[in-house]
Order: sequence, then C-alpha cells, then structure tokens
Amino acid sequence: MLKPIVAALLLASAPAAFAQAAPIEQAAQQPAFTLDPLPYATDALAPVIDKETMELHHGRHHRAYVDNLNKAVSADPALKGLSLEQLMARVSTLPKAIRDNGGGHWNHRFFWGLMAPEGQRGQPSARLVAAIERQWGSMDAFKAAFQQAGTSQFGSGWAWLILKADGTLAVVSTPNQDNPLMDLAPMKGRPILANDVWEHAYYLNYRNRRGEYLGKWWDVVNWGRVNEIYDEAIALKR
Ligand code: MN
Repeated sequence: MLKPIVAALLLASAPAAFAQAAPIEQAAQQPAFTLDPLPYATDALAPVIDKETMELHHGRHHRAYVDNLNKAVSADPALKGLSLEQLMARVSTLPKAIRDNGGGHWNHRFFWGLMAPEGQRGQPSARLVAAIERQWGSMDAFKAAFQQAGTSQFGSGWAWLILKADGTLAVVSTPNQDNPLMDLAPMKGRPILANDVWEHAYYLNYRNRRGEYLGKWWDVVNWGRVNEIYDEAIALKR
C-alpha cells in the first residue's frame, strides 16, 4: 500500500517545484537578441544567391553573431536593456566582441530585408532616383561606385549607400562587421542599401569572383523596401 502514497506525495510536491523553478529558468533562457527567420525561402534568391549559401549565411553565420552578441552583452550588466542601435552609437567604448557581433547582427538583419523573391522587388522610387542622379549623375554611375566600394574593400567587409547628416547620399565601405552607424565609423550616416562582401556571402557560387557577385546582386534587390528605408531616413533627419 506504499505505492499510491508515494505517487500522491510526488504529485502534491510537483506544482510547488514548478512554481519555484519556472521564473528562474525563464530569465536564464531569454536572450537579449534573437535571430528572426528569413523573410523568404532559402532558395528564393537563386540563381543569384544559391540555397546552400543562404542556409549557411543565415543559419550559421548570422546565428553565431547573435549568440556571441548575447554572450558579450550578458557578461556586462551595464549593457542590459540597450538596443542594438544604442550599442552601435557607443561601440568604441565597448569590448571588441560587441563591435564584431553587434555589427554582424545589425548588418545581416538589414541585409536580408534588402533582397526579395522575383515579382516582389519593385523599382527605385522617383524620389530615390532623383537623389542618386544628383549625386552620381545616373543610376549606372551610382551602381559602379557601389560595386567599386565592394571590390576595393580589402578582405572582409560591406559596401553601403548612406544618407549623411547633411542630407546627401554617399557610398562607403567598412571592414569586418563595422557599419556607418558606429561612433567610430570614418563616415557616418543612415544605411539605405548594403551588400555583404565577406567570402561567406558568395564563395560557393562565385568562388573568388567578388566583382561578378556584386554585379549580379542588383537582380535580387528589393527596391520597394529600399525606397521605404530612404523615406524613413529622410523623415528621421527632419
Ligand atoms: Mn555575412
């Protein structure tokens, strides 16, 4: 007759044990930053960017930046609750792991939204085209300047179109996972468009031909989203 009593005791003690354990477990498991799913299927950008590159790039590389950023942020209680943008704005005062992984998270999150499946890419708005033509004379000249920034970036990094504080557009490149929002960036501005020129972004398909990747990448750009980003950046400046 012991068995039912033991079972009853276990049942009676279980809710209390759960009630105590749950909040602690929840707090420990809640990371500050999370990896969002891609806004399209991993094969949606093929043949410009192949499925395997997208799987590795998002599922492994971007995930590692998020995981390592969470580790770095949780190691310093003073950083608790700060947004990614707040971290970027003071990154020169923070550990290198925040610069590398915080930049990695911001840059990739931005990058995925700049591309879209066929039929959902749209065209640059008249407003954006006018601003680009004021700066470079033509869309083609802008694209050439952007590609040049990407090909001439030594080693790993990013090419950017930014809106500067004075309201003009500029093309810049940054090394590693730096970006133009960082307080240490030589030229700061709101990112409007960016391309990842790390080898992990193109090597499976294009091998060492970074220039070819940069040229074909225009075919998958989500201009509808880029127009919105530009409009938001202009509105923020006002
Ligand atoms: Mn990347």
